[in-house]
Amino acid sequence: MAKTVIEGGYVVPMTGRDVVIPDGVVAFEDDSLVYAGPPAGFDADGFAADRIVDARGKAVLPGFVNTHIHLIGAYLKGITEDVPGSAAAGLFNRALPILAECRDPDDVYFGALAHATEMVMTGTTTLVNTWHKETNIAPAVRDLGIRASLSEFLVEIGFGGLDAQTLDRPWRTDRLNRSLDAAEALVETWHGKESGRITVRISPGGPGYMSMEGMARSRELADRLGLGINVHIAELPGETEFTRKLYGKRPVEIGRETGVLGPDAIAIHCVFLNDADVAMLAESGATLSHTSYHVAKRGYFPPMDAVYPAGINVALGSDWCSNDLWHYMRAAILVPRAQSGDVGLLSGYDALEMATMGGARGLGMADEIGSLEAGKKADVILVDVARPWLTPIRLENFCSTLVYNANGSDVTDVFVDGQDIVRDRTVVTIDWPEIAGQVQRRAERIWARAEKNF
Ligand SMILES: [Zn+2]
Repeated sequence: MAKTVIEGGYVVPMTGRDVVIPDGVVAFEDDSLVYAGPPAGFDADGFAADRIVDARGKAVLPGFVNTHIHLIGAYLKGITEDVPGSAAAGLFNRALPILAECRDPDDVYFGALAHATEMVMTGTTTLVNTWHKETNIAPAVRDLGIRASLSEFLVEIGFGGLDAQTLDRPWRTDRLNRSLDAAEALVETWHGKESGRITVRISPGGPGYMSMEGMARSRELADRLGLGINVHIAELPGETEFTRKLYGKRPVEIGRETGVLGPDAIAIHCVFLNDADVAMLAESGATLSHTSYHVAKRGYFPPMDAVYPAGINVALGSDWCSNDLWHYMRAAILVPRAQSGDVGLLSGYDALEMATMGGARGLGMADEIGSLEAGKKADVILVDVARPWLTPIRLENFCSTLVYNANGSDVTDVFVDGQDIVRDRTVVTIDWPEIAGQVQRRAERIWARAEKNF
């Protein structure tokens, strides 16, 4: 369909605080938005739509931007969340042994499709992925049709034997060199592919996974290729102790001194921050990818009562299971409120802004995605608001009603680049029942191999 009009819905363009246009019109031609606003300003005859989508009883929003994900994490679901012991026991004692068994490229492909399909069905239209051998992930996001930024996970250490208590890091320069080469190859094979829907960034693992020299070399590569950076930083308990022991510096200081943190960088997790770290992060211009629902499951949380007033651009990221950003919006509001007692910290609209424009800014794509405005990409979602948990509607509080009550399963239709990806709650670009069967069979084999290392 070349020309589509979505009409009759509550359009939330994310162009101003709590702006909602009842009975609004969103029109797009091919991959570009042509109009988003009240019907009075739209020349329907002149546009001559090929297709009209009835959005009565639905909200019409820009698709969400998930700024941090490891799509391979689908195989970890339910296994890693309730592991007793240290806060990161789920990561070190369950996740890493399972991921070590995901060697078959088809395991990666189908697992990635499970996570990416969850994302698109719950309203995410752009994801930012990082993992090893990213060329195995790329076909999954290509086939699904979601917008994706891919990046090779640059590490200077083997994951075997790593745990939160280990302060020693036997650096392996050979491994770093291999991953830098893989990152460059990924750029050649996938950057700008699928009509620009797939792009590539550079992902230094961060101070817990590489030396300062490795961090600096990652920044050099990003600058040479003109690409942005994603970096895990102040992620885990023990990371600060380790970097202080080795360098006498905190993780954010390392990010700054190696040049990794800058306006083109997405700093992931950023949990263990002191006031000086927050100030440094703000000064760097980096975006904080706030993995709210994920880190809360591990029993820790970034000091958001300090982060928000510092003026840092905050976006949302899911890391892995779960990937429904409605959960992340709510956790981003609720946990700091419970910690601080300050109910003014963040509103429903603010959380929606983080899920949309916050992510777009982090990716340097604020002119392309994150809001419904003429000239931007036609990445649009429809949300069924004729549900008991979303009734009644008061326009002044529409965004709060959505954020506190909507679920990913209320998303009915998803367009990326103007293409239908989800129609009436069904993903239409892939055969989900077939893929679900593949993922279940593969998961059982992977778990059987990994269990001996639990
Ligand atoms: Zn991560």
